[in-house]
Amino acid sequence: MRLLIVSNRLPVVVSKDNGEFTMTKSAGGLVSGMSDFLAGLGKNKSEIKEYVWMGWPGNSVEKEDEDHLRDRVREEFNASPVFLSKKLMDKVYLGFCNRTIWPLFHYFPNYARFDLEFWEEYKRMNEIFRDEVLKELREDDIIWIHDYHLMLLPALLREKVQNPIGFFLHIPFPSYEMYRMLHKESRTAILEGLIGADLVGFHTHDYTQHFLRCVLRILGKENHMGRISMPDHTVEAETFPMGIDFNKFNTMNVSPHITTKNPKRKMVLSVDRLDYSKGIINRLKGFELFLEKNPEWIGKVYLNMIVVPSRTGVGSYKKIKSRLDELVGQINGNFGSMDWTPVIYQYTSLPHKQLIAQYRKSHVALLTPLRDGMNLVAKEYIASLRDQKGVLILSEFTGAAKELSESVIINPNNIDEIADSISEALVIPVKDQIRRNKIMQKRLKRYDVTKWANDFVNALVENTRVTRDSLSKKFLDPELYKKLVSEYRGSKNRIVIVNYDGTLVPFTKYPAMAEPPDALLGLLETLDSQVKTDIVIISGRGKDELDEWLGELPINLTAEHGSWIREAGRKEWRLLKPLSSEWKDEVIPILEMYTDRLPGSFIQERDYSVAWHYHRADIEQASQLVKEVNDHLLSITTNISAHVIHGSKVIEVSNSGINKGELAMHWLSRKEYDFILAIGAGWSDELLFQTMPEHAWSVKVGLSQTAAKYIIKEQKDAISLLRKLGE
Ligand code: UDP
Repeated sequence: MRLLIVSNRLPVVVSKDNGEFTMTKSAGGLVSGMSDFLAGLGKNKSEIKEYVWMGWPGNSVEKEDEDHLRDRVREEFNASPVFLSKKLMDKVYLGFCNRTIWPLFHYFPNYARFDLEFWEEYKRMNEIFRDEVLKELREDDIIWIHDYHLMLLPALLREKVQNPIGFFLHIPFPSYEMYRMLHKESRTAILEGLIGADLVGFHTHDYTQHFLRCVLRILGKENHMGRISMPDHTVEAETFPMGIDFNKFNTMNVSPHITTKNPKRKMVLSVDRLDYSKGIINRLKGFELFLEKNPEWIGKVYLNMIVVPSRTGVGSYKKIKSRLDELVGQINGNFGSMDWTPVIYQYTSLPHKQLIAQYRKSHVALLTPLRDGMNLVAKEYIASLRDQKGVLILSEFTGAAKELSESVIINPNNIDEIADSISEALVIPVKDQIRRNKIMQKRLKRYDVTKWANDFVNALVENTRVTRDSLSKKFLDPELYKKLVSEYRGSKNRIVIVNYDGTLVPFTKYPAMAEPPDALLGLLETLDSQVKTDIVIISGRGKDELDEWLGELPINLTAEHGSWIREAGRKEWRLLKPLSSEWKDEVIPILEMYTDRLPGSFIQERDYSVAWHYHRADIEQASQLVKEVNDHLLSITTNISAHVIHGSKVIEVSNSGINKGELAMHWLSRKEYDFILAIGAGWSDELLFQTMPEHAWSVKVGLSQTAAKYIIKEQKDAISLLRKLGE
C-alpha cells in the first residue's frame, strides 16, 4: 500500500536562479511533523510501505522544465509536483483561501470577502488537483488530503475512484452560524466536497461537532455517532489532535550559553505568524497594562516577540503590521530606559534550533490567539523545556488548550486577564512549574505527531475496509447480473415484487412529487405483458394515491405496507386480513401533541396506519425530539395491536402483523414460482428481504447494511435492471 499525501504546497520549494534550479525544504508544522512519520514508514508493522507527496512546488515553472523537474523532485523528495501558474495560486491562496475561508473559519467575519470570482478560482484549482492526482494514482494508494485549500477534492476524486480517501482540516471548523455566512453554492459544495472522503479529521471535538451540525443543517444528512451514510460509502468524522515531534524538541542539543535563563531580567516569549487571528495587538496591550499595574517589574522583565512574516499581499495583514510597529514604539517610548527595552521584536522566521534556544531561555511563553486551530508553538514550547522550568500562558481559543490544561489558560479578549496572567506566571514556584510541565510533557510524548498520523491512517484504512468489505460482498457484479437475467429468461413462472419510492422513482423531498413518469408506466406495462411474469408493487402509500398513479395498469398493487391489496385486472381493493383501527384513537392525540411541538411536522392518517412526517421540520429540532416520540409510541403500543417503525424522516404506526414480509408470503403462496425477484430501497423492505425463500433474488437499492442478498448502487440501476428483464 502507498500513501498519497495531497496538500496545497509541497514540502519543497523549487526556484530558479541564473538558469539553475534550487530546491529547499520548506518549514512549517505539517511538514516537519509529517517528515518524521514518513521517515518511519516501512520500518514498523504498518501496511503502508511507501509514500508520495503531491502539491504545488512554490513557483511557476516553464513548460519545457516540467519533465526534468518532476523527475528531480521525485528522486530527491519523494514528491510529485502539481505545476500551476503562480498567478492562479496567488489568486486562490490570497483569494478564497485567505480572504474568505481563513477569516470566517477563525471567527473574523468582518475581514471576510465573498467575491464569486474567488470561488470560481478555488473550484478551478481543486479540479486541476483532481486531474493531477488521477494521473499519479495507483490502485493500492490510500489518499490523504490536507487542509482548507482542497476541501472540494475528496468528492471530486470520489466520483472517479474507489481508493480510500482521508481529509484533515488543520484550522478550526466554525460553528453553523459562522459557516452559513458563505454564499449558498460554496457552503453546500464545501460540505459535499468533504463528505466525499471516508474519514474527515479535526483537531478538537468541538470542530468535529460543528462540522456534523453543518452537514445536518445544510445538507440535511443525519449522522450516527459521527458516521454519515452515503449512497456509495460511509463517512466518519473524528477528532485527531495533531501532535509534534516531541523527541526532537526535547532532546535537541543547543549550546547552554544561549539557553540559560537570566534571573535578573525575565523573558516573556511569544512566537507566531503575523496574523490577526493570533491576538498580537491584544498581547501588546496586555503587556503594557501589566507594566502599568505592576511597576515593581519595570526593568526586570521584557517581552520578546518573534513574528513571522505572512500573507504580505493581503491588506488586512499589512494594516496589522503597522499597528504592531506603532504599539511597540509606544510601549518602548513610554516605559523604556537607557538600559532596558520592554518589547523586543524580530520580524523573521527562525530555524528550529534557534527557536528551541528561545523556548528554553524564556521564563514565560505568552500565546494569545483569538482563534487557532491547534497552535503547535504551545506544544513545542512545553516539549523543549528540558529542565521542565517555565510557564505557558495559553489562550482558551486554541485547539492546544484542550490538551494543555495545566498551563495558565486565559481569554485573550480580556486585556486585564492577559496583564494579570503575566504577573501570576512570573511568580509561580519552580516546583509547581515542574509539576505542571511534567504532566503536559508526558501527554505530548505519548500522543506525538507519529502517533497522530498513524492513528489517522489506521482509522482511514480500517473504516474503509469494514464498510467496503461488508458491502462489496453483496454487490450485484456483472457476472451475477448476467446470471439473474438468464435465470429470469429461463424460468417458467416468475414474480417481480418491487417497492415504489426509492426503487421505481427517486426519493423526493415531498411525497406528492413522486408521480411516475410515462417511461416508467411503459416499462411496467411491458414487463406485465410477458405472460410468464407477475408484477407486484408494494408500497407504504395509501390506496387512493396508488389508484391515481398506477390504477390504469393491469398489475398487482398493495398499499399501506400490505394492509390493502388490489389484484391485477381488478378495480376494487380488499384487506389482506381483517384489521382493526381502534388503536388510532390512542395514537393520534399523542402525535398531535408532538406536531404542536415541532413546527413543520404533520400527521398522515390512513385506514390502518398513521404516519408522522418530519422532513419539512427544522432538521436539528426534529432529531432531538424524534427519540422521545419513538419511545413514547413504543411504550403505548406494547399493549395494543399496532407496531412502530422509524423510517427516513417519518415515524409510522401500523397494525401488528401487517408488513411487507407477510404480504410477500401472500403473493408467493398463490403459485409455484421458479423465479422470484424482490427489489426495495426503504427500511420497510427489510422484512420483505428477510422472508424471501432461499432461491429468491433479493436486491437492495443503495449501499447500506441490509438483509437483502445483493446490493445495487442507485435507483437508476433498479430501472435499468427492470429494463433489461423487459427486453
Ligand atoms: N516556526 C518556525 N520558525 C519561527 C516561528 C515558527 O519554524 O520563527 C514554526 C513553529 O515551530 C511551528 C509553526 O511554525 O511549528 C507554527 O505553527 P502554529 O500551529 O503555531 O501556527 P500556524 O503558523 O500554523 O498558524
